[in-house]
Amino acid sequence: MLPDFCLRTVEKNMNTMIGKNQRPELLMPAGDMQKLMTAVRFGADAVYLGTDLFGLRAHAGNFSLEQLHSARAFTRRHGVALYLTLNASLRPFEIAALERLLEDLKPIDLDAYIIADPGVLATIRKIDPERAIHISTQVNSCNPQAAEFWRLNGASRINLARELSLEDIRDFAAATELELECFVHGAMCVAHSGRCLLSTALLGRRANRGDCAQPCRWNYALVEETRPNESFAIEEDQRGTYLMNSRDLCLVEYLPQLMAAGVDSFKVEGRMKSLYYVATTARVYRDALERLWQDPSDQDPRWREELEKVSHRPYDSGFLLGYEDAKIHAQDTHYIRTHDFVGFVNEDDDHGLWVAGRNRFFVGDELELIGPGMRQQTFRVDEIQTLEGERVPAGQPNSRLKMALPQWAEAGDLIRRQRPEGE
Ligand code: SF4
Repeated sequence: MLPDFCLRTVEKNMNTMIGKNQRPELLMPAGDMQKLMTAVRFGADAVYLGTDLFGLRAHAGNFSLEQLHSARAFTRRHGVALYLTLNASLRPFEIAALERLLEDLKPIDLDAYIIADPGVLATIRKIDPERAIHISTQVNSCNPQAAEFWRLNGASRINLARELSLEDIRDFAAATELELECFVHGAMCVAHSGRCLLSTALLGRRANRGDCAQPCRWNYALVEETRPNESFAIEEDQRGTYLMNSRDLCLVEYLPQLMAAGVDSFKVEGRMKSLYYVATTARVYRDALERLWQDPSDQDPRWREELEKVSHRPYDSGFLLGYEDAKIHAQDTHYIRTHDFVGFVNEDDDHGLWVAGRNRFFVGDELELIGPGMRQQTFRVDEIQTLEGERVPAGQPNSRLKMALPQWAEAGDLIRRQRPEGE
């Protein structure tokens, strides 16, 4: 016999299931308020974020209670769902802090908590029994029997393990009533998602707390104990050492197959990634989902071209096509970076549109303005002024600038510059 709260939640889940005749959700990360607003503006249907209220170490990429209230108000105004990650595995002394946190969170009316620890789920059920529960990638859910376990315990959605193939996902979807969420873009682990102690051991930054510093991608050298100032290269081959380097996931070309398989929500990884990454991935995946939902054969090469313009490791489809074809291992340690994010468009009553500088650019440069809905336009910088009217030869990080922009420019648009060859 299921406890009452489980029965209530299961019934609620069945009523709120995303209908399969509805376009799947685009779920974007938000590391701060500006990224959240950008994710929404550039096409997110739902946003996930973390909180620093857990009595744990605060770091960039988390929201305070006050910011969560603002995030809720903003997403509500735009009809966007808001999920909070509570997917840490807690030690006994942390449960009391979780209980206090859940009491504080109740009035915010979040759309779901993302959890991994059954103890966290049980605590949520005690304090906030009606709140929807999504099962995190950290659980590594690989089969519908696992999904059934979580459903019976009150979950409404499950994140599919990145290790599943398309065929596995089809079989999984056919055998579960839960909403299915699938990562389609972002970093991959060489361990099962986040279940690795490398970052904890080297830096005290725990992957399980969303704080992985990704030391698996660092360049390592060998040091002999008595010669601490001498290091010896460990070279697998002429490209260096890349024993633990994983590629980045990019499934934009496989969205029709994933939709047909029954995925309800497409998730982009990267709460710690840049504003430019959030804008670019959101606008590409939103456009792709909209168009492919109407016509699954409507593949646009611009989607992949645009995704190539954010800093990334070599892209791959991970395990989607099966283990035989998987190439999650990158062959060198470098990020591919063809463009720099140089400015963010703002607006106020005194100055109209102005640009917040994020990177250096110069008078005479060709820049590109990007906006939601795949809008983009190249333009030449003929003159740059400060907001005080002084002419300057270059835009700098943290500067406030006036310059001529394409006519359709709006506050919230981003400006990028192609890197010269070899830079
Ligand atoms: S160190 Fe690498 S493999 Fe380990 S959790 Fe972080 S990203 Fe994943």
